[in-house]
Amino acid sequence: MTVPDEPGPDGRRDELARNLAALRERIDAACAASGRERGSVSLLAVTKTVPASEVAALLDLGVTALGENRAQEAASKAGEVAELRRDASPRWHFVGGLQRNKVKLVLPWVTRVETVDSPRLARALDRAASAAVEDGIRDGPLPVLLQYSVDGDPERGGVPDDRLPELADLVAGLPGLRLEGLMAVAPLDSEPEGAFAAIAGAAGRLQARHPGATEVSAGMSGDLETAIGHGSTVVRVGTALVGDRRITSR
Ligand SMILES: *Cc1c(COP(=O)(O)O)cnc(C)c1O
Repeated sequence: MTVPDEPGPDGRRDELARNLAALRERIDAACAASGRERGSVSLLAVTKTVPASEVAALLDLGVTALGENRAQEAASKAGEVAELRRDASPRWHFVGGLQRNKVKLVLPWVTRVETVDSPRLARALDRAASAAVEDGIRDGPLPVLLQYSVDGDPERGGVPDDRLPELADLVAGLPGLRLEGLMAVAPLDSEPEGAFAAIAGAAGRLQARHPGATEVSAGMSGDLETAIGHGSTVVRVGTALVGDRRITSR
């Protein structure tokens, strides 16, 4: 029986470095192809299921923003990474469904919550963020993005088109939150051009109403070129950077 070679820690680091270089080339090429400035799109490295040691290696390679989708896993990982790299100050973005009872768990370390999709979640985050400022745990309002639902399917999370203006107005008026823009996941079963055009349209309407809401977090490993072509400012990439996480051991 043959057992595939497990790359040692250095092998894994080299692999991450190669993946990161290739990914940066893809982003640069997509910017060039759509006449956008190099550097106008930032990379959010999605590190769900990736162990803290590998996250530390990504920070060594120059990654500065990390995305996580589970409150509990992310809370412990943020702590471990802070221990491993005391001098780094990575930005942690929360990109998963957030239950209101988990809000307190993310506030001590989160830089931005990208998945605000209901008035109830917005209010819970506002209360907790305001309390965190009073307690000296945070020093200002919590940056958030509204998660937009392209197809209006409530199962997948996200606010549908017709409720976006109302939610945006609510969030903009909450003192504990700062509305920075829109986030969306293109539905797997739809044609990407149409989906990213719809996301761009919603982002444009949001920004017309709230000029500070300039960020568009859209595009992942498989569709980042299309997303960048439609004005995305942040791509959230997991697989193309860290490989298939079902195989990666924890
Ligand atoms: C996992 C995840 C990503 C990254 O997806 P890949 O296809 O692995 O690049 C992006 N956004 C969200 C919300 C995710 O959960």
